Amino acid sequence: MPTVVVTGANRGIGLECVKQYAADGWKVHALCRRPEKAAELEAVSGAVEIHAADVMQHASINETANGITDPVDVLIANAGVHGKAAGEFGALEYDVWRSVIETNVFGAVATAEAFAQHVKKAKGKIAFISSKMGSIGDASGGGMAYRTSKTALNMAAKVIAAALAGDDIAVAPFHPGWVETDMGGPNALIDTGESVSGLRNLIGEMTVTASPKFLSYDGAEIEW
Ligand code: NDP
Repeated sequence: MPTVVVTGANRGIGLECVKQYAADGWKVHALCRRPEKAAELEAVSGAVEIHAADVMQHASINETANGITDPVDVLIANAGVHGKAAGEFGALEYDVWRSVIETNVFGAVATAEAFAQHVKKAKGKIAFISSKMGSIGDASGGGMAYRTSKTALNMAAKVIAAALAGDDIAVAPFHPGWVETDMGGPNALIDTGESVSGLRNLIGEMTVTASPKFLSYDGAEIEW
């Protein structure tokens, strides 16, 4: 039975990852900040184990990772925040911006570090859920905190891909689409089912490379 680890598994894209992998017969380690409040996650049937992990608390991720002994075929670093309260240039709230970077960059990278040994054992894959909003080539302005965090995450993904290629681990960042979730809002273009089906196909096709592409859930390549 292949094994997947998902962060931010209690709602949105992370929850849908848990549902789809579990329905496909995978063992799922579902990480979330407050398991006691994760009723929808608890209701998912299949081989799902729920663990507490706040990606801003590196000790919490490490402790959770240390408690898991399975080799990990796929790690999905999905947890993220938008941080609208960081505001825009001219009136930036640096404490909020800092917390966005700590979650979206440090949190995702710390998750990869915590589970690298598990992924090595399976010669597995690490997928970072990034955003097209992190594309410098595509950027139209606004969203300072979120955009810079995802740009940094993309660079981190490339650095990690190069660091782990020698261990036969495939690493890449993905854009999940504009998805109807709490973050994506009601005007989003696709639902979580369509996003995660696409992401799962792409994750299935990931190959070991020191220089991954930045792909959208539908396979379209996005400019860095
Ligand atoms: P949601 O806001 O619906 O869910 C975010 C998830 O991240 C929640 O499970 C939340 O947990 C978790 N999370 C936030 N901070 C932490 C933390 N410190 N530790 C652990 N978990 C945390 O967002 P989406 O599902 O839409 O987003 C998932 C990913 O997809 C994010 O990385 C986002 O940037 C990316 N994305 C989303 C897009 C969209 O249109 N929806 C577009 C492009 C990218 P909690 O419930 O505890 O807050």
